[in-house]
Amino acid sequence: MIAEWLTYGWFRLLAGLAGSLLIAGLAYRRSSLSASGAWSAAAMGTAYFVLGGPVWFGTLIAFFISSTLWSRWKHSSRAKHAAEANYAKGSRRDGMQVWANGGLGLVLCAAHAWHPDPLWLFAFAGVLASVNADTWATEIGALSKSQPRALLTGKLVPAGTSGGVTLLGSLAALGGAAFIGLCAALLSQAAPISAPGALVQTELTAIATLVLIIAAAVSGLAGAFADSLIGASGQVMYRCPACARETERRVHCNVQTVRIRGWSWMNNDAVNFVSSAFAGVLAILLYRLFI
Ligand SMILES: [Zn+2]
Repeated sequence: MIAEWLTYGWFRLLAGLAGSLLIAGLAYRRSSLSASGAWSAAAMGTAYFVLGGPVWFGTLIAFFISSTLWSRWKHSSRAKHAAEANYAKGSRRDGMQVWANGGLGLVLCAAHAWHPDPLWLFAFAGVLASVNADTWATEIGALSKSQPRALLTGKLVPAGTSGGVTLLGSLAALGGAAFIGLCAALLSQAAPISAPGALVQTELTAIATLVLIIAAAVSGLAGAFADSLIGASGQVMYRCPACARETERRVHCNVQTVRIRGWSWMNNDAVNFVSSAFAGVLAILLYRLFI
């Protein structure tokens, strides 16, 4: 096993590094990632490739590229501009966001390299499906013609409000979750779950592959709704003293905002992390139930 890793490990390290640097560099040049975001993404992508090979790396890239494309789609529209003004950060992802989105998946990828079991891939698909569902829902839902409603109370809320949901956004969440399941399933059929020479390999049966798609779609959608629920309850929210708007930002209209609800540590990155962990657990339960 050690000899195999020495033979193929270097190849995987170089291939992973080259691919990750290329993608992170392009994203940085096109302003989709900040400098800290680009370095984090390059390191993260390399680790995914070394530990997991094409299936884990490819699924991560499917999330990254699809969510980046949706966020650029109609980026200059008024609807998106208005929504974005309330978010804690703009469309340029920084290092914290990169780790909040892909860090837990990397832990699962490492767990699979250590102790191979399809269960880890299911958990990973659930986690990434949730993150992707949330991103697609945010980016596509922002263009909804109908005003969002609060998930808990059903009251109409301004566009861009945490916890606000629309039908378009919910359908986008389902699409984003299923997309990750489909990518993981197709990749796991095209390549071993760990590439040749890797520490371990896992093979999925046809039934398990189908369950993987469904588990990702269901748990990813549930994760996106959990994200909305936490966003509407525990997430920290501030009010801008200048314009009186509620915002996720600590500074608005160039003045310090005032906390009006939520736990101070529960920012948007923390909400993403917690809800995607919930989706991962749900995907494991579905795996245990059906496989
Ligand atoms: Zn303001």
